[in-house]
Amino acid sequence: MAVLSRCSRAVTAATTPNAAAAKFSYLIRALSPFSSSSSSSSSSTFDADNGLNSRIKPAVLGTLKREPKDRNVQWVFLGCPGVGKGTYASRLSDLLGIPHIATGDLVRDELASSGPLSSQLKEIVNQGKLVSDEIIIDLLSKRLEAGEAKGESGFILDGFPRTVRQAEILEGVTDIDLVINLKLREEALLAKCLGRRICSECGGNYNVACIDIKAENGKPGMYMAPLPPPPQCASKLITRADDTEEVVKQRLRIYQAMTLPVEDYYRSLGKLLEFDLPGGVRESWPKLLHALNLEDEEDKQSAAA
Ligand code: ADP
Repeated sequence: MAVLSRCSRAVTAATTPNAAAAKFSYLIRALSPFSSSSSSSSSSTFDADNGLNSRIKPAVLGTLKREPKDRNVQWVFLGCPGVGKGTYASRLSDLLGIPHIATGDLVRDELASSGPLSSQLKEIVNQGKLVSDEIIIDLLSKRLEAGEAKGESGFILDGFPRTVRQAEILEGVTDIDLVINLKLREEALLAKCLGRRICSECGGNYNVACIDIKAENGKPGMYMAPLPPPPQCASKLITRADDTEEVVKQRLRIYQAMTLPVEDYYRSLGKLLEFDLPGGVRESWPKLLHALNLEDEEDKQSAAA
């Protein structure tokens, strides 16, 4: 209960700007990476007219045009359950050396810890419902504090914010640079959740589903190959307890009700980059890198490997 009352104070405080700054002062410090970096005149190949970014405000486009080392990376991934937030956020995290913080993982870690919140969380998560803003902000704050202590800077958030209140609290304490809204055809989302497998040892995310949507009524087909685990993970795969058909459908409903307004919130701030996934990782990853002006970064990493 002590945790809960501390959280409630934090969230209540965070709704008033001055108090929020006090409570989350560590957040502001921790989340202002590269603030001393000079901006660069980039020889960017970024195509601002590619349609993806037409509603993004100029400052955010400016961020994308900078060399990656000169950018702020305080990014948020939005998207329905099963869209692939974890997959793309973790790939970008590896590419940029910025921590990928998935609030779903924080919740699952807490669940597995048999701590005081464990049984309460289990019931909520296994029904596909959202954990309270208070609890989730407390878990996120602890994770950010631990990261700060290890010298982390920046973040790629996945699964947070999920309510407008969470988004307002976050925006009240730090300036999110970019919100990447991943979109995938609805027919594929349920199949992707049901096909998801996680390595119980390294946490790697894989998928056994082979999605082959035929072209119909003028809509193009879509093929998504499975994402198989590497041999060292193959015998350690587990399925998430909340990836059952009934619970996934409930999570999709909750996304529509609670998180779609978060898309609108960031759209109105001009921070939302809409990205329609054209297929599986093989087709989508290069296009996402292009949209984020990070193609050169991957070339550099491959050359160094
Ligand atoms: P999904 O595949 O549905 O995007 P996640 O792994 O992000 O799932 O989250 C799993 C569960 O953890 C959610 O269904 C919810 O119960 C809880 N959770 C994660 N992030 C949040 C959040 N920001 N606010 C409230 N609950 C959350």
